[in-house]
This record gives sequence, C-alpha cells and structure tokens, in this order.
Amino acid sequence: MGRITLEGVAKRFGETEVIPPLNLDIEDGEFVVFVGPSGCGKSTLLRLIAGLEDVSDGRILIDGVDATPLSPAKRGLAMVFQSYALYPHMSVRKNIAFPMRMAGLDEAEQKRRIDNAAKALNLTDYLDRRPGQLSGGQRQRVAIGRAIVREPSAFLFDEPLSNLDAALRVGMRLEISELHNRLKTTMIYVTHDQVEAMTMADKIVVLHAGRIEQVGSPLELYRNPRNVFVAGFIGSPK
Ligand code: ADP
Ligand code: MG
Repeated sequence: MGRITLEGVAKRFGETEVIPPLNLDIEDGEFVVFVGPSGCGKSTLLRLIAGLEDVSDGRILIDGVDATPLSPAKRGLAMVFQSYALYPHMSVRKNIAFPMRMAGLDEAEQKRRIDNAAKALNLTDYLDRRPGQLSGGQRQRVAIGRAIVREPSAFLFDEPLSNLDAALRVGMRLEISELHNRLKTTMIYVTHDQVEAMTMADKIVVLHAGRIEQVGSPLELYRNPRNVFVAGFIGSPK
C-alpha cells in the first residue's frame, strides 16, 4: 500500500496558476524526492497530496482509490513538517502518542507502537523528557516518530532538515534513508537541496515554476538531463 497517482492535478490561488495540470505516478515503497528552487511549488504539491490544500483540477488516487474528496485524516498519509511542531509541555512519549490518542487507539496498542518507533529512532532513553531538553536532531526524530505510529501508507516530508546544521543534516539524511530501507513505506521528500535529492532518491521529480521538468533516477538525470534547467540544477555537464 502506498501507490499515489496524480491525474491532471492543478492548483490556482486566485488568478495565479501555481501548478499547471500535471501527471505523476509514485510506486508503492518508492523514495521520491521533489526538488527545485524556492517558490517552484514543491510544498504546494505536497500539501495537495496530503489534502491540506484542495486541487483546482484533476484527481489524486491513493492505492487506486480517488482520495481527492477525502480529508487529510482519511488519506492514511503522515506529514513530517520542517518546524518540529512538537508540544513543549508534553513528554516525548505523549507527543508521539498524540495522534493515536486522537484516533482512539487502546493503551496497549499505543504502547506497542511507541516502543517500536522509539527503538527505530533511538529515542528509548528520551521518552520521558520534554522537547526543550532535546537536541535539534532528537526533536526531528520525535516528529518522525509521531508519523511512524500512525502506520501511514506514505510519509510526506517537507524540507525536514532545513533547520539543522550541516553536520547533523548528513546524519539525519542517513537515518531517514535507513528508516525507508527498514519500513519500505513510500516516502515523498521535498527539498531544494540537490545533494539530498541525489543521495536519497529512488526517483527524482525536478520542478520548475510548478511544472515537472523531468522524472528519473539520480543516475538518469545526471547522465541524461532533458534540458539546460535540469542539467544546471542537478549539476551534470550538459
Ligand atoms: P516551494 O515550496 O517550492 O518553495 P511553494 O509551494 O511554497 O513553493 O509556493 C509556490 C508558489 O505558490 C509561490 O509563488 C508562492 O508564493 C505561491 N503560494 C503558495 N501558497 C500560497 C497561498 N496560500 N496563496 C497564494 N499563493 C501561494
Ligand atoms: Mg516549500
């Protein structure tokens, strides 16, 4: 589970067409990176998939079902934000449990999922701390933990590492890649950072002014950029 298909999806804000109609197929279990310069529509596209924005045209299918009319909660996806959006007054355990409490899961199931997420993210020793007592990297892990316990069919990341310093970013990239290897759940990862795209993606979607310039593996884009924009952005010598 975790196949996402965009059919003629477009977004306008008032008169401005931010995303002209586009098609995109994301396979189950793929790590897909949306990359492009600031303002090109990456976040908007991710928010359309999450259901945080309504499409102006087109349909979004999740595992073959038309999800376009569904609220974010009904889509079975989990978004990890750039700002940690943790509750400062709650322990790590309570922060991670929050979406499960909202969903009314029983205590035993909550505990099982928290323990699994904490183990996967090396947070076992930090469950009783508050977010303010954690490092930036640990806080980002808690935010990911809160997504994991929902057992989503896909994770949506919007520039999750942009608040971290360079050294920490490298470590967190590896952790997210490892998490993907372990969970084998579809991940869509938005970044303006070419290095993140090239090192993390199974499939890169290069965006420019709301349009998809090219879709391909890092190697395909590097070896065979379709145009000067892709070549310049990915850094290959065309
Ligand atoms: P990115 O994430 O790639 O930096 P965004 O998706 O945030 O780009 O924005 C794409 C374009 O859409 C920008 O020109 C931005 O100003 C515009 N935009 C985004 N959200 C809104 C909104 N709610 N209302 C009007 N314009 C918006
Ligand atoms: Mg953005």
